[in-house]
Amino acid sequence: VPQISYATDPRTSARMSRISPSGTRPELLIRRILRSIGVRYALNRMDLPGRPDIVVPSQGLAIFVHGCFWHRHSCRRGRSEPLRNRNLWMEKLERNATRDRANVRALHRIGWRVLTIWECQLKAPRTSRRLERALSVLR
Ligand SMILES: [Zn+2]
Repeated sequence: VPQISYATDPRTSARMSRISPSGTRPELLIRRILRSIGVRYALNRMDLPGRPDIVVPSQGLAIFVHGCFWHRHSCRRGRSEPLRNRNLWMEKLERNATRDRANVRALHRIGWRVLTIWECQLKAPRTSRRLERALSVLR
């Protein structure tokens, strides 16, 4: 897989601060599902566009686990608008979404498949069972 370089910007540090050894709760859930179905994964590949939260190397698959609000999901939470400093925030959130799309395109260009899992998809137990079935094709 060829390396691609991309400029860092101040927002990168905000993202970086999100990255902890333990990961976010939704991310931990995905990791648990992957382990339970025997899929081997790697975390936070810093060399890939957008630093996917989880990658499944055997499948060339990059997984992002996105918060609906911050990444502008089409669900209700993702379409909700901040009450204070609305314009400033909307601009910031729109930039997030634009950057996400650019990262997906960049990953596709270098031959990765991309799966975006939204926080809202993980809430109901029924949904996480569905996700478990969907991910089991990766085995
Ligand atoms: Zn959502």
